[in-house]
Amino acid sequence: MSGPVLDLVVRYRKGQTYGVHALLAALDVEPPSVPYELHLARSVAEVAARVTAGVEARRRVLTVWSFYSPDAAAMEQELREVRSATPAVPGAAVHLAGGVHATAEPLVTLRAGWDAVAIGEGERTFTSFVEAVATGADWRGLPGTAHLDPATGALSKNRAAERLPLDRYPTFPTTRNLTSPIEITRGCIYACRFCQTPFMFSARFRHRSVASVREHVRVMRGRGLRDVRFITPTSLSYGSPDESPALDAVEELLAACREELGPGGRVFFGSFPSELRPEHVDVEALRMLRRHIANRDVIIGAQSGSDDVLAASGRGHGAAVVERAVRLAVQEGFRPNVDVIFGMPGEGEAEALATVAMMTRLADLGARIHAHTFMPLPGTPWRNEAPGRIADGARRALAVLSTRGGVYGSWERQEGIAAELAGARSAEAGHRGGRPRRLREGDPASTS
Ligand code: SF4
Repeated sequence: MSGPVLDLVVRYRKGQTYGVHALLAALDVEPPSVPYELHLARSVAEVAARVTAGVEARRRVLTVWSFYSPDAAAMEQELREVRSATPAVPGAAVHLAGGVHATAEPLVTLRAGWDAVAIGEGERTFTSFVEAVATGADWRGLPGTAHLDPATGALSKNRAAERLPLDRYPTFPTTRNLTSPIEITRGCIYACRFCQTPFMFSARFRHRSVASVREHVRVMRGRGLRDVRFITPTSLSYGSPDESPALDAVEELLAACREELGPGGRVFFGSFPSELRPEHVDVEALRMLRRHIANRDVIIGAQSGSDDVLAASGRGHGAAVVERAVRLAVQEGFRPNVDVIFGMPGEGEAEALATVAMMTRLADLGARIHAHTFMPLPGTPWRNEAPGRIADGARRALAVLSTRGGVYGSWERQEGIAAELAGARSAEAGHRGGRPRRLREGDPASTS
């Protein structure tokens, strides 16, 4: 049998594995027509070594990177290192970026040095791209991709790739021992203005069938795994086309997973990496969950204690429903973990203190608070807003609550990331010749 024609070098980083596993799963379903070798590169040095080996052996080389906006600068630096450490043979290696940042900022990403970007969900685009590079075909016209026009340097963007049913591809590859939580729902009908999910995956739900989920659980069980978790933007929306939960569908899913897992298996639901919307939490739902799931910690998205900020963010619920959800969850034997975001647009001192007051009440009920700082993420309706800053009063309250274990999270680190994102945005506006947006530091309506 002849050796590999293509070296497929995937930058494999902690925190980014789920997306990579989904791509590799797609490659199981639609493999390239010529032999290839996959390298999961856990460092930039490994990427460079694999690229060098491939180019020197005169094989085709494709590197693949996927990252969120806060990592974009670090990945750009890595790509520079790879380019400077590998043989400068024009066209010998193709560097492809995908993920939410590349989708939201294709031009910025291409100017940072990648040859092509995959826009939107990546499975079909990825398998087509791999096939094109592996066979030496032209990849520049592929749906779902963009590149810089060699003559003009302008962005050349192709039509969007087709959005396929979730069952088309598994969540993780079945031919390699790589596992992730099972993606049961993709896309989101809600339109929270800080969130990248709706633009990345569309503003409607696509659900994986119970039969497909069962197949995943069977594979996991065959690997000796006993715990099942899920990826979904809103757990209790499984099976539903709209805002109302479809509890029968959720129960069918959970019961099927338990049956496939057998004795000793554990199903985790409504916990990381998925959460419950507060208006979906009622006694019927909680009792159904108690019958099927192993976790007692659940995550409830609150985001703010201010109705005005919640309305401005498009969350679709108010603050009172959060307190009701927490009360019911505690009553039914769960420990709620409640997500809040400080520094969202429209949040002044009064709104921040409303969130602090809500947090304190929820902590007294037995909840833990997961605190975040607003980041103006590319692609979102709030991408041009000022970076989140935590008001002094809220900062002091967070410190007090954290000493008694009532709050956790990376709100301080995210404050720094938010400022960096806004700085990168201003620099890019300057690069485009536009007027950099002035960050409204000190404006109490937007930075506290
Ligand atoms: S925050 Fe959650 S509910 Fe809101 S749009 Fe994003 S995924 Fe959907």
